[in-house]
Amino acid sequence: MNKPDFTLEKIKFAFDNPIFDKAIALYESGKVTDVDESIRSYTGIVIRTKPYRVSVEARSFRYAYCTCYLGKNDIYCKHMLALAISILLGKTK
Ligand SMILES: [Zn+2]
Repeated sequence: MNKPDFTLEKIKFAFDNPIFDKAIALYESGKVTDVDESIRSYTGIVIRTKPYRVSVEARSFRYAYCTCYLGKNDIYCKHMLALAISILLGKTK
């Protein structure tokens, strides 16, 4: 998988701890699945009560989409952040 333009440091700097910690928890508990790469973007599925389809562009973690209620309303959600973190840190066991 190619590295995106963003880094974990940039993400951490951009968000308050609550959303960052929630996204890390999603990542660490293996809720981010089917992470895949296409042209300058990434997709994945975050398993909650429903599976949410998430995408993040390689140029910035801020260009993201998610099928959850917040994502549909253009609000940055923890699922987007969890996918961005997964791209950077790789698969969990
Ligand atoms: Zn979401």
